[in-house]
Amino acid sequence: MRNRLLLIGLALAVLLVVIALVMPWGGTHSAQAPASSAPTLPPSSAPPVMGAEGIGDPYFPLAGNGGYDATAYDVQVRYDPAADRIEGHTTITAQATENLSRFNLDLRLPASVVTVNNQPAQLHQVGGELQITPAAPVLVGSPMTVVVDYAGVPSAIPEGPDDPSPWVRTADGAVAVGEPDIAAWWYPSNDHPSDKATFTITATVPAGLQVISNGALLGGPEPAGPGMEQWRWQESEPMATYLAFVAIGHYDIVRRDTRYGLYLAAYDHGLAPQVAGAARASVEQTPDVIDFLSGIFGPYPFHQLGGVVPDAPNLHFALENQSRPVYGEGFFDVGPDVSVVVHELAHQWFGDSVSVRHWSDIWLNEGFATYAQWLWDERHGGPSAKQSAAMNYADHPADDEFWRVPPGAPGKAAVLDRAVYTRGAMALQAIRMAIGDQNFFASLRAWATDRAGRNGSVQDFLATVKRVSGKNVDEVAQTWLFAPVRPAAPPS
Ligand SMILES: [Zn+2]
Repeated sequence: MRNRLLLIGLALAVLLVVIALVMPWGGTHSAQAPASSAPTLPPSSAPPVMGAEGIGDPYFPLAGNGGYDATAYDVQVRYDPAADRIEGHTTITAQATENLSRFNLDLRLPASVVTVNNQPAQLHQVGGELQITPAAPVLVGSPMTVVVDYAGVPSAIPEGPDDPSPWVRTADGAVAVGEPDIAAWWYPSNDHPSDKATFTITATVPAGLQVISNGALLGGPEPAGPGMEQWRWQESEPMATYLAFVAIGHYDIVRRDTRYGLYLAAYDHGLAPQVAGAARASVEQTPDVIDFLSGIFGPYPFHQLGGVVPDAPNLHFALENQSRPVYGEGFFDVGPDVSVVVHELAHQWFGDSVSVRHWSDIWLNEGFATYAQWLWDERHGGPSAKQSAAMNYADHPADDEFWRVPPGAPGKAAVLDRAVYTRGAMALQAIRMAIGDQNFFASLRAWATDRAGRNGSVQDFLATVKRVSGKNVDEVAQTWLFAPVRPAAPPS
């Protein structure tokens, strides 16, 4: 995710120093993949239990659920833009990890009918927790097919007492994009990045509207009853629930084949002409940016690429939706902004392909994506990453609240704090200087390739750095990631 205000500060920093440079990208140590550790499952003779109402995230105790592992979502929604009403029919394929007498899904829209393995189930919905009691217990290791019918008005469901709905209506449609919360406003799920799954997303909308989502376009527009059309999308690589998105509206769709797969970008008809021009000038560089990033981080992890720019003035951020980021139009209101494209595309490796274990690991997403922007600047006539780190260090005196947020453990309220981004990128620069360029870039590549399609924690990453470099980085990690004070000097 990238907040718009952060970008303005970064753009100013880039303007301050323009220095040509030669960038030593480092070599490519091969790295051993860690042995996968299968969870120890209870025996099927154990008495059935109620699955936990949270998956165990320290910051968001109700996020996700216990007792099962989701493997595939088939999300089917019918959307009426005039009423902002969704009617949903979603099938979740999962496997039980306990003997379950009851389990939860996360869903904010009211559910009406639930079946488990084709048998009607009892349901009880409290807040964002949908408790499901199957007709018979589901045994550990058994497949579960859960079908949920639901309907409601997502924009009418606030996120909290002081927070509006994350569902964004537009002049002629809507955009479902958010972090960490958005899934529960349009489909039921095990809503946590540690349980990734494949997705098929089908949306039926009034004829003439376009629907953009993740991955491959399987079909659309296809007739779907009087006055309606259907669009079908598929993401075949494991995806975190918050990265699934849908954008509904009138869009100009640009597509072309690239070496990375089908490039498909969509620009809302409602964008002002100069904004639309700047958006295209930025997002259309996506294949070039992926050339740049894959040269540093290793192969692009997905089979499609692109971007979406809705006409949604209230969308004040960009999000790294898997294979196809969504950009708030504000990034382009004073001209092109390739840096935000670099940020969201870097997340395809760091955040999307390798996802956080818990939300407390958010530095692995935002520090890395911000550092990728610094690398882009360095390669394109801007300050070096070392200079960006030094400038940001100088910009924040010791009494600045900025230093109170340790990016390696920011706390729930500061998960998306600017320090996670900027100090987080400084931390990477500090690690780079501690272990050398070759070890540093080899560590990033090892992280991206060894854990592709999976998850990792901050400690896992530090272990990768130690393994690849053979160097102890405990002190630099403590200084830059975990101490809530300004380090004595910029990375050196
Ligand atoms: Zn980000």
